[in-house]
Amino acid sequence: MNSYAFQHCINPDCGATYDLTEIHHRCPKCGALLDADYQWDKLPVPKSLKHFEQFWAQRDVFRRMSGVWRFHDLLPFAPLDECVTIGEGQTLLQKADFVAPYAGLKPGCLFLQYEGLNPSGSFKDNGMSAGLTHGKLVGAKTAACASTGNTSASMAIYCGCTRLMNAVIFIGSGKIAYGKLSQALDYGAKTIQIEGDFDDAMARVQEVSKKLGLYLLNSLNPFRLEGQKTIMFRVLEALRWEVPDWIVVPGGNLGNSSSFGKAFIELKKLGLIEKVPRLAVINAVGANTLYRLYTEEGLRWNGGRYDKQKVDAFFSQMDAEGRKASTIASAIEINRPVNLTKCLRALDFCDGVVRQVTEQEILDAKANIGAGGLGCEPASAASVAGAKKLVAEGTIGKDERVVCVLTGNQLKDPNATVAYHGTNREFFDKILGCRGVTTTEFANHPVTVANDIDQIIDLLK
Ligand SMILES: *Cc1c(COP(=O)(O)O)cnc(C)c1O
Ligand SMILES: [Zn+2]
Repeated sequence: MNSYAFQHCINPDCGATYDLTEIHHRCPKCGALLDADYQWDKLPVPKSLKHFEQFWAQRDVFRRMSGVWRFHDLLPFAPLDECVTIGEGQTLLQKADFVAPYAGLKPGCLFLQYEGLNPSGSFKDNGMSAGLTHGKLVGAKTAACASTGNTSASMAIYCGCTRLMNAVIFIGSGKIAYGKLSQALDYGAKTIQIEGDFDDAMARVQEVSKKLGLYLLNSLNPFRLEGQKTIMFRVLEALRWEVPDWIVVPGGNLGNSSSFGKAFIELKKLGLIEKVPRLAVINAVGANTLYRLYTEEGLRWNGGRYDKQKVDAFFSQMDAEGRKASTIASAIEINRPVNLTKCLRALDFCDGVVRQVTEQEILDAKANIGAGGLGCEPASAASVAGAKKLVAEGTIGKDERVVCVLTGNQLKDPNATVAYHGTNREFFDKILGCRGVTTTEFANHPVTVANDIDQIIDLLK
């Protein structure tokens, strides 16, 4: 195993390091999150990001086809020929001139990174390929995760395809979009529905994994986040290594935003970029822990010495009031984001902002993204809704280059889409009306007509 990679506690007052072969969910000494880290000075670090262009021509090297392992030099914790791939990361940044006006941006300024093209239909596959690679290195037999849906779909497909480990998933009852549940069941994962929500499932899976020695593949897993760094590498690649002005991403458990921050911290440290993009993390109003702590209460990373009491007090009050996350954007319906501290670090490094968007704003943005040809699930649309808000308030300039990450495929949650565009009032009320969505300004309603040729032709005139 590569001896130049190790695990590193992110708490600067601890800074403990652990061997790659150890399995921890958090730092055993202080309880903080762990990073995968590298002795970069002992590794062959590329001189320029152009280094990666040579791999475009290596279509005969199986692992270079992966949009994750093409960038192996920047996440070198396992030998390349041990890395797990099922074809993740074949995603491309799209210039979205048809969506830009909706966000208030000039043509050529909005880009959508469509991660819905991954094998399981969400960005989670970027991380899963890396997480499973580490699990394989440490000889794990069973992989486990708690999930709002996409992590489980991703873990299930990787375990089903590679048969490297058995898959056990924990989900909150009634809290999962059917597209995602159907994937976990179809790919053969053992699926455990817990009476409770994501946070309950997350707490239990950590306990059970510790007790039974299951390999945890939630975004607490530092190796998973290594894989997700490559989403940003591909964004830069598509922009011919030019750094955009803004990265906008929905925030749930905050794994993605954390890994994007780590990617830019490392690229800067290695001299591979000069400019750092600004980061915007977007919460749903119904699941706005980060927004409240960061934007309203001014919580900051503060060199790793963040105000822990503020965080603890926030969660105590949340429990005392019995507040529970609730949003149509089920992938970000999370009370206690496990990567909160890493996200604070990312926001600090990338001069970040956090905003919250309503259910209505999410659904309207989703319809506009769909009409631009890149359908996504509700959580993903929070990114464009957030960008629109930031342009309207003047934080993002109309002619700045903005990359919104579309985290998951439209087919994950067809109910939300059909409720918005459809004409069945009852269905609309059940799925969206009950959540405060009142208008469907951007709906593409289907038209009903008698089975009669003349009437059909009349409709199309
Ligand atoms: C997991 C997920 C998110 C949330 O990402 P975090 O890394 O947990 O913040 C957002 N959108 C989709 C589609 C997801 O699957
Ligand atoms: Zn520690």
